Amino acid sequence: MYNNFKDFLQTELGSIESAGLFKRERVITTAQQAAIKVSTGQEVLNFCANNYLGLSNSPVLIKAAKEALDTRGFGMSSVRFICGTQDLHLELEKKISEFFGTEDAILYAACFDANGGVFEPLLGEEDAIISDALNHASIIDGVRLCKAQRYRYANANMDELENCLKLAQAQRFRLIVTDGVFSMDGNVPPLDRIYELASKYNAMIMVDESHSAGVVGNTGRGATELYNLKGKIEIITGTLGKAFGGAIGGFTTGKKEIIAMLRQRSRPYLFSNSIPPMVAASGIAMFDMMSKTNELQDKLHANTAYFTKKMLAAGFDIKPTQSAICAVMLYDAKLSQEFAAKMLEEGIYVTGFYFPVVPKDQARIRVQISAGHEPEHLDKAVAAFIKVGKELGVIKG
Ligand SMILES: *Cc1c(COP(=O)(O)O)cnc(C)c1O
Repeated sequence: MYNNFKDFLQTELGSIESAGLFKRERVITTAQQAAIKVSTGQEVLNFCANNYLGLSNSPVLIKAAKEALDTRGFGMSSVRFICGTQDLHLELEKKISEFFGTEDAILYAACFDANGGVFEPLLGEEDAIISDALNHASIIDGVRLCKAQRYRYANANMDELENCLKLAQAQRFRLIVTDGVFSMDGNVPPLDRIYELASKYNAMIMVDESHSAGVVGNTGRGATELYNLKGKIEIITGTLGKAFGGAIGGFTTGKKEIIAMLRQRSRPYLFSNSIPPMVAASGIAMFDMMSKTNELQDKLHANTAYFTKKMLAAGFDIKPTQSAICAVMLYDAKLSQEFAAKMLEEGIYVTGFYFPVVPKDQARIRVQISAGHEPEHLDKAVAAFIKVGKELGVIKG
């Protein structure tokens, strides 16, 4: 029975490989942090984790997790509504809505689930979802599960969005959906314009703050902070798996009736396990820390500004960024791979991206800055970029 299918898979895998698209996993043998060790024994500085606030190995979060492990056990063995809700889960949901200035919040196992379970319970055939073309895969999948009419506009293109909104007047309710930061360029959508258009054409807004929460805005409250829209956006989704400690967990936060409906009807919430107590407890400790100090956000912003300034001065072509994502443009797929490999030899771990992950001829190195980086880490990375950049003729030697 399996033979034909096995042949089929081997052929497919072979074609992924020959197209140069086969994903190999680098194995880390230390905790996730700025300086890591990989399985070859090499020590490298990590510039490709979503560990924006440097919390993945935070003593504060580890302590909170250990305490919860001792007092609340290992796992919940239940979905929330049967017997998977501890006081910790409710407390974390409250902290999330306090952080974003929203009315209520609901936890999921991951933001992939939050996005997968947000559309179908809220909207039907007679409604419209208007989505940015560069939205995350989980939004695309979530929209597919929903019967609403679909409209798509080019990344952050407000003329196209307006056009979609005009067409969508034929529907009952309209929801505009956008990432808070687009992960390949590091740009933030113009939420002020989106808000104006939503008001004009009677639409609601959903922002996925996965890459922006903890990062964007003076206090890291995300794209809604940057545009002074705190409390005005109907739906925000996000993850605990990036800036907020990097373990696992996602959430939807926003208007209380929306959250109430998700608790009744959202399938990944109703039919999937509750997050472990230790993850909830470390999330609470993390939001407590954020409510007391802005130290990590400030350090991240300073680090990002420092790195981009040095790179521009060195002559690199850097996409304007509003986040901790820095795209070093190379415009050539092969060059991007060669560049990343040489950076690794210099002890700097960065990733080269090319088509189809980014548009054709837009190949680049994506650098992700963290509050966990010290000035000497940033200097070492810039020095390596300059050395490799000269070697490969990207900047003038
Ligand atoms: C990473 C990411 C997700 C998925 O988050 P997980 O919690 O890891 O499932 C969803 N949306 C966006 C925009 C992301 O960047």
